Amino acid sequence: MGHELQKLTHGLLNQYLKKQLTRYEFRTYSAATIGPIVIDLRSDTITKPTPAMREAMAKAVVGDDVYREDPTVNELQDRCAALFGMEAALFVPTGTMGNLVSILTHCQQRGLEAILGDQSHIFLNEQGGIAQFAGVLPRSIKNKSDGTFDIEEMKSMLRPINDPHQTWTKLICLENTHNFCGGKVLPLDFLQQVHDFAEKNDLIVHMDGARVMNAAVALQIPVSEILKHVHSVSVCFSKGLAAPVGSIIGGSKKFIDMAIRMRKVLGGGTRQVGVLAAAALVSLDQVLPRLHVDHTHARIIAEAIQQENGGVVTVDVAGVHSNIIVMHIIKDGILAKDLVRRLMQSK
Ligand SMILES: *Cc1c(COP(=O)(O)O)cnc(C)c1O
Repeated sequence: MGHELQKLTHGLLNQYLKKQLTRYEFRTYSAATIGPIVIDLRSDTITKPTPAMREAMAKAVVGDDVYREDPTVNELQDRCAALFGMEAALFVPTGTMGNLVSILTHCQQRGLEAILGDQSHIFLNEQGGIAQFAGVLPRSIKNKSDGTFDIEEMKSMLRPINDPHQTWTKLICLENTHNFCGGKVLPLDFLQQVHDFAEKNDLIVHMDGARVMNAAVALQIPVSEILKHVHSVSVCFSKGLAAPVGSIIGGSKKFIDMAIRMRKVLGGGTRQVGVLAAAALVSLDQVLPRLHVDHTHARIIAEAIQQENGGVVTVDVAGVHSNIIVMHIIKDGILAKDLVRRLMQSK
């Protein structure tokens, strides 16, 4: 087992470095001068703020954002609203709070439910906050491997409005790119179909767009072309966009006005937070334009893994749409933790 893992990771690194070093940023170095290196690719959450971000943070002009007087936060919100093609935007500390604030804002009545994918981050990885704090029943629908779900099944889940036994369906939540499905980009015609159904039935569509900028980059379209199909979105700066902290939600002015109240009651009304918005502005100016490079790198790494897999793992290379790679172990008796331990070693 050890030997197979050894072969796998050596082949992988060689392959990766050869392509990486000849094509991209480290062009002037050679694999020989760098030697074996470990690149930590566990998640895009572990990206560090760039030097330009730290400088922008130090210089940021700030004010009290609870009074809406932080010019840097206001600039970020205005720029994001324009980028998203939405009326307004609101800076929030985390993506989890962005989703919760959005759903609290949309669902202020009791006895409501949200239809959402059974592999979605909101359903699996946010402590069921929409049930805990918003009193919303999460009604899960099976996610397909491409991050979508079956449209007919979704339609069949709509509850009759006049039956006192049942919750009222209020919301449909989508995730784009879809994290646990491997960074999948949702097709635009799927978004269109969900949107049409929502419009016809007076439902709201919220997108957990933690990585929706990756989706836009992968499709080579403005993000507003994606977001025109949804009523609200939550987007993370702290993932591939490399900012240290922060997410932003977007929607109508009315939605954002109420979202400000919800953010406050959750303890997310922050004061001189322009220091963080300043880093997020650098994300928009300097990181967003190179996000496609992450996708190219992900594809190269996925191909390398697949070619040099040593019979240990497999990757669906064509399924790498953005910056996430999912490896499946195919060799009996090798555990994920063994593979991870091996990959952490440099030799
Ligand atoms: C990371 C993530 C979130 C939550 O973001 P935090 O800032 O970690 O709270 C929400 N949805 C998806 C799909 C994510 O990947």
